[in-house]
Amino acid sequence: MRVPVIAGNWKMNPTSASEATSLALAVRDAADGLAGVTAVICPPTIWLSDVQRAVGAGRVHLGAQTMAADERGAFTGETSPLMLRGLAEFVIIGHSERRQYDGETDESVGRKVASAVAHGLRPIAAVGERAEERRSGATSHVIDRQVRAALAGLERLAGTGLVVAYEPVWAIGTGDAASGPDAQAVAVQIRAILAEIDPEAADEIPIQYGGSCTPENAAAYFAQPDIDGALVGGASLKADAFAAILHAAVDAPRHA
Ligand code: PEP
Repeated sequence: MRVPVIAGNWKMNPTSASEATSLALAVRDAADGLAGVTAVICPPTIWLSDVQRAVGAGRVHLGAQTMAADERGAFTGETSPLMLRGLAEFVIIGHSERRQYDGETDESVGRKVASAVAHGLRPIAAVGERAEERRSGATSHVIDRQVRAALAGLERLAGTGLVVAYEPVWAIGTGDAASGPDAQAVAVQIRAILAEIDPEAADEIPIQYGGSCTPENAAAYFAQPDIDGALVGGASLKADAFAAILHAAVDAPRHA
């Protein structure tokens, strides 16, 4: 049975360590005692140490929002996977905002996913089509290209801790969420690609939905047989809303 993974992508919020630790503590309290779900928060890298100290080891797992593929070198402003070890368990790779604003490419996403795995970090590989790609009927082509590229550096999937997040770009931060069945159709496509790469492990990999996921619509995704959690932006900045999404995942049927 796959355990759903609910990951909060805080993006460039909050802007102070004290607000970050307060939010993390509120999420930790909300997640306390919840079994059958993996709760992850991904604060800005600069707050990871503060948040880790505040929440301690427990039910809330920590993730980074991106990382460099390389261990060291002349990469101004970047964070090495070596720096994340011991601080983050997960790392989001290839978020559409990184692709749009920071020059992330299919190729760099593949390198980073492989590097994360090599350094014992669990990559949350984000894929998704833009609005114009959806309009032109290119969704399945884009998903195929992005998923294969993201996983190109992995010889197998078993034991990698991989999570794949399907995040249609047009749904991120817009309130215009995908329908449960539409998200499920893409998740089926993603799982079929996973099965080509590693037939034994494909059914173990959590596939998340992301894009305007809220307490109101979360259950519609978690009821889908191939969706195992969510990557949550805006709603992850409110502990109550994030907690409600965690509860929706706990209450949803388990998928094998
Ligand atoms: C995201 O940034 O990954 C995301 C899904 O954002 P939101 O939930 O705000 O749409």
